[in-house]
Amino acid sequence: MIRSDNGYFGEFGGRFVPEILLPALTQLEDMFFGLRDDPAFWQEYVTLCQEFSGRPTPLTPLRRLSAQLGGAQIWLKREDLNHSGAHKINNVLGQGLLVQRMGKQRVIAETGAGQHGLATAIMAARLGLECTIYMGAEDIERQYSNVFWMRQLGSHVEPVNTGAKTLKEALDEALRDWAASVESTHYVLGTACGPAPFPEMVSYFQGVISEEIREQSLARMGRLPDEIVACVGGGSNAMGAFGAFLDDPEVKLVGIEAGGLGFADGQHSVRLSHDTGETGIAQGYKTLFLQNDDGQLGDTHSIAAGLDYVGVSPILAYLSQQGRVTPDSATDDEVTEAFSLLMKVEGIIPALESAHGLAGGFKRAREMSPEQNVVINLSGRGDKDIFNIARAFPQQEWTGFLQREAARSTELLAEKEKRGH
Ligand SMILES: *Cc1c(COP(=O)(O)O)cnc(C)c1O
Repeated sequence: MIRSDNGYFGEFGGRFVPEILLPALTQLEDMFFGLRDDPAFWQEYVTLCQEFSGRPTPLTPLRRLSAQLGGAQIWLKREDLNHSGAHKINNVLGQGLLVQRMGKQRVIAETGAGQHGLATAIMAARLGLECTIYMGAEDIERQYSNVFWMRQLGSHVEPVNTGAKTLKEALDEALRDWAASVESTHYVLGTACGPAPFPEMVSYFQGVISEEIREQSLARMGRLPDEIVACVGGGSNAMGAFGAFLDDPEVKLVGIEAGGLGFADGQHSVRLSHDTGETGIAQGYKTLFLQNDDGQLGDTHSIAAGLDYVGVSPILAYLSQQGRVTPDSATDDEVTEAFSLLMKVEGIIPALESAHGLAGGFKRAREMSPEQNVVINLSGRGDKDIFNIARAFPQQEWTGFLQREAARSTELLAEKEKRGH
């Protein structure tokens, strides 16, 4: 797993936060650096993941689909089979162990689509920690089922009513809370972004994915895979899937970003693969951000809420710059096609985020030979996306309980049409 040079990966990374938060980040870093080489700590973490989240997750061969596409053998790393339905739980369980060791009793997090909030609420309940989740009032309306579950799990969900009432405002509120409560409280960051040591630490915990892929590939294929493909939002599932292979140059590592509706401003979330991202400092760290002409953070779009993010892991920015990771993107249309293909030919319901990895992986597999192996990280399952997916497949009939959502999707589609898509 990659190590930073004092919090930096090449020119990216660092720690740009108000002075008051520095001691908490230093404490976290000291604790993490002290434990990461301790096999007993790793074993404690793996055991928690096994007992609570069903690890190891399987490596599933897609026999029918590989034959149909006529190229490489395609395998899925099944992070969708984790408790709570995605890889996010790995990271929060790891941070939970650190919280216990630091002697803190309370965790906070911010959440947009609600998946990280839900994972954090689950961890807090399991480990007996007090938990507050900051969420924009607009996002609460849109993602009510996650809010419902977080509250049932005993977490406090705090609506944020400032600005656009979405993720960015929730992040500001969570940081304000942390600055006032840092003695007793840990901030659970959800992806491989933010100030050091979060990118490195989140990648370390998610690295359990690639440790397992390595072992499972050797057992099932008799060698390492030729390519590993993962979708890239903040970058945690990609770093998790790539981490153990960084020193194996024969294993190609491919990250797929959200190409959305095209490369016009505000229509995509492509920061790595198309020269669309520019180096900047925001949200506590330095990386490639989508920016407008005045250097302000730009607008983003993705069919998948989890990929709709303006920054990206400084580790992936660095590895892309170095040529170790190959970045690419998939459009909304390619994503819905890959989504259908996996469902109809293999009976697996992917998250829309993960379907970006599928779209990229299927495309690459077609160009490869049947003796080669591609592993695609299936970061999560699609149940949570039912309304978004229903909107992406407008030709299908609605059952009664979908009617209200259907009316909204018709409006959205009409709006899209007006914009010429
Ligand atoms: C949150 C999420 C992502 C994006 O986050 P990364 O940090 O880039 O992994 C991808 N897939 C699923 C299923 C998610 O919930």
